[in-house]
Amino acid sequence: MSGLFAGKKGLITGVFNKQSIAWAIAEQVMEQGGDCGFTHMPDKPDDERRKNQGRVEKLIDGNPRAKFLVPMDVTNDEHVASVAEKCKSEFGNIDFLLHSIAFAPPEDLKKDTVDTSREGFKLAMAISVHSLMALSSAHKDLLSPGSSILTLTYFGGEKAVPGYNVMGVCKAALDATVRYLAYDLGPRDIRVNALSAGPVQTISGRGAGVDEMLGLYEAMAPLGRNITHEEVGKSGVYLLSDMSSGVTGEILHVDAGYNAMGSPGRLLDKF
Ligand code: NAD
Repeated sequence: MSGLFAGKKGLITGVFNKQSIAWAIAEQVMEQGGDCGFTHMPDKPDDERRKNQGRVEKLIDGNPRAKFLVPMDVTNDEHVASVAEKCKSEFGNIDFLLHSIAFAPPEDLKKDTVDTSREGFKLAMAISVHSLMALSSAHKDLLSPGSSILTLTYFGGEKAVPGYNVMGVCKAALDATVRYLAYDLGPRDIRVNALSAGPVQTISGRGAGVDEMLGLYEAMAPLGRNITHEEVGKSGVYLLSDMSSGVTGEILHVDAGYNAMGSPGRLLDKF
């Protein structure tokens, strides 16, 4: 087997469907020879249709590089521990861990940040931020020297992006978490980075206002367009692989350059 991930194995979280950023990254990791274990959001015990499991099963079905699929709600410590157990029994050690998980209650996401409820804030932070700590902690003894942890963030954690609201506050905390985990895990030669993606159409993205942002990015970004799922996948491969061996505690923007702008630039031509 050739490829950047030949002989490497790891965990992919956050695949909901074909549009998920986690899937865009996982597809390319597997193409490059990496073996992947997957998690899915648990289905309700009385739901015989098992939609969450079924959707991911359909995606990985027949791919020899997809080694297992297990349920995990990241707010449940037992689930997280059992995913680490599964990685241990299936793989022994792992070389990469992808955290591609975020959630805020829609009623809080829609509110001005100033009116965020305490419960909504706690849940959003637990799922979108603490989960990176929990997964990293549960897997730190399995992650080989030279391995890589990657999370997904957004520019709304660096600057106020109206409509992104409480999720922007979560992303600011996630960005800081990346830096602190990079420090904690550096002595083990485990790297921790974030990929800051421009807007892409996904189920969570739509809830967070992606549709409105696509036009703005096209008009303002130096490349004059939006990014593709494939481009996020390629940069994910870079950050999860040895290609980025000297990079940790970093936020890599994959956004056609939007974050580099300090004025609306070519958008002004439209007025
Ligand atoms: P997505 O809906 O496909 O992925 C979000 C995932 O989070 C889903 O698989 C969902 O099941 C999972 N999740 C939610 N609550 C969970 C819980 N309690 N336990 C376990 N898993 C849980 O959407 P996406 O856009 O691919 O989002 C992935 C990441 O990328 C998120 O962190 C998101 O903020 C980030 N991101 C997205 C965009 C975008 O434009 N879509 C841009 C920048 C960053």
